[in-house]
Amino acid sequence: MTNLGNLCIIYEVNAMRIKISSLKGKKGASIVFSDVLDVQSLEVEPPVTEFLDPIDIEGKIVNTGAAFLVEGRLTGRALLQCTRCLKNFEQDFDLTFEDQFFADAKQLAEFSNEQEDYLGDQSLIIKNDEIDLSNLLTDSLTLAFPMQVICSEECRGLCAICGGNLNESQCSCEENQTDPRLAPLADFFKKQERRKENGSS
Ligand SMILES: [Zn+2]
Ligand SMILES: [Zn+2]
Repeated sequence: MTNLGNLCIIYEVNAMRIKISSLKGKKGASIVFSDVLDVQSLEVEPPVTEFLDPIDIEGKIVNTGAAFLVEGRLTGRALLQCTRCLKNFEQDFDLTFEDQFFADAKQLAEFSNEQEDYLGDQSLIIKNDEIDLSNLLTDSLTLAFPMQVICSEECRGLCAICGGNLNESQCSCEENQTDPRLAPLADFFKKQERRKENGSS
């Protein structure tokens, strides 16, 4: 179970349901599933600019006796906007998801006795023999992208003065606009530099 706290990015996945009729009453039985998520249906929020490929979903559901355990993976590719330089860059993602679902309120209550964070979460009760993966997939995608993403560790970002992308070209703002209060310090460093160039230290 995931707790999203106050994250505000939501990629809402709608109606992803898996039939589990064949697992009922059979402890140890499992089914595998795979599906493709139509990325057009997802709302994107920064830092995601766009999902580039359909998102592949594969997973397994096991009747553990105490619950129906769902485990799976989401893989795809997204166009993200670098927080430092504002350029878009592509990034593959490979996420996992996992949760437990319950046949009825009684099974949920028994399970909750041991694992308190499941207590009373009615959305985890299976309805019409279908496990609804929507929330689980939405949570997994939401947690996948932090608010701050950078195109590379070396990204130099934008110049605070002219707004130019410092990865593409070095502007001359820095040299021209030394803070006057720091001028004595700049002089000091320049002198040091000159000394080094002259071979003395
Ligand atoms: Zn960048
Ligand atoms: Zn500049």
